[in-house]
Amino acid sequence: MPVGTAGTVKAVPQDVLEDLGAQIILGNTYHLYLRPGHELVRKMGGLHRFMSWNRALLTDSGGFQVFSLSELRKVSEEGVSFRSHIDGTSHLFTPERSMEIQIALGADIIMAFDECTEHPAERDRVRRSMEMTLRWAKRSKDYFEAHKHEVPWGDREIGRPENQELNHKGHEGTQRESDSGKAYAAGIPSEFVQSGIPTPALFGIVQGGMYADLRRESAERTVEMDFPGYAIGGLSVGESREKTMEMIATALEILPKDKPRYVMGVGYPEEIVKYAAMGVDMMDCVLPTRAARHGLLFTSEGRLNIKNARFAQDQGPTDPLCGCRVCQRYTRAYLRHLFVSAEPLAAVLNTIHNLAFYLDTMKAVRHAITLGDLSGVLSRSVSLV
Ligand SMILES: [Zn+2]
Repeated sequence: MPVGTAGTVKAVPQDVLEDLGAQIILGNTYHLYLRPGHELVRKMGGLHRFMSWNRALLTDSGGFQVFSLSELRKVSEEGVSFRSHIDGTSHLFTPERSMEIQIALGADIIMAFDECTEHPAERDRVRRSMEMTLRWAKRSKDYFEAHKHEVPWGDREIGRPENQELNHKGHEGTQRESDSGKAYAAGIPSEFVQSGIPTPALFGIVQGGMYADLRRESAERTVEMDFPGYAIGGLSVGESREKTMEMIATALEILPKDKPRYVMGVGYPEEIVKYAAMGVDMMDCVLPTRAARHGLLFTSEGRLNIKNARFAQDQGPTDPLCGCRVCQRYTRAYLRHLFVSAEPLAAVLNTIHNLAFYLDTMKAVRHAITLGDLSGVLSRSVSLV
């Protein structure tokens, strides 16, 4: 899932995202709450209409950004108070407030409010944090169940599935017949459609730091609360890749296979292939977009830094195996020129290619899963490490 922090996947227009085959993108609750404000987005008909995106949207709970961006944050049982990184004003996020904001934004999938435990952390600290995340999950769910119909969708246009690939019945699971086809076009499984107006799906989040037994317990107790999907949070915070894999594997043993399983904030192309092979269904990461703006491009031959002088007269495409509009049209020499000249088009073209590479990687994974053999995709991706 490409990350669209402030109602935009930076540097890429929505019609290009559609052409790239993005089925779902993220919005960040913390950013949208501070600017332009969730009440404004609600008045504009919700985030779908505001940003003119009719495919699926997911918003995070706001918790992670509060922990990573805001100043003077203070965590209590009630929630997290913090000062805006934009203007220094004081705010409070609670599980209830996070649900209220996310329902106002009107994403299809919204996330329970959790505490992302810092790393490294002592076991006692991680347990206390995990217990609080479980209590916050319960509060999130209670508020959500009481208010989930307050979405700003109203007369939102929900059309037929646009993309033929979405119509395949297969491992992607959701049965799509008659009415449920309409809901699927908006990214919403049919069970969330009630009385004609779809409601969002609230996912629970597994925490537990880098302790396998705490991860297991967090997963078990989150599953007991019965969410329609589950995320594994608190990873990629500085731990080793082996540790990330171990924590994901531990949680996957508990999380039901017939519900979406989402690892938050990962990863490099070779990592997302591995996680998908382990049974992960959803991932998001700022890496392809953020790296693109720094001139780092992902290709089938490995990573390349476009500002490198060796590309100054390179007539080849970024990636000879990539079919994206950037690789079909522009040379490495031109992309290098744009980047070293700090032209805005550099960010646009680099991001489009990187997203194409990530989305094509996942397309290959889905195809391999349909064929029942992931070994080819896995061996190709390992060579990139
Ligand atoms: Zn490309």
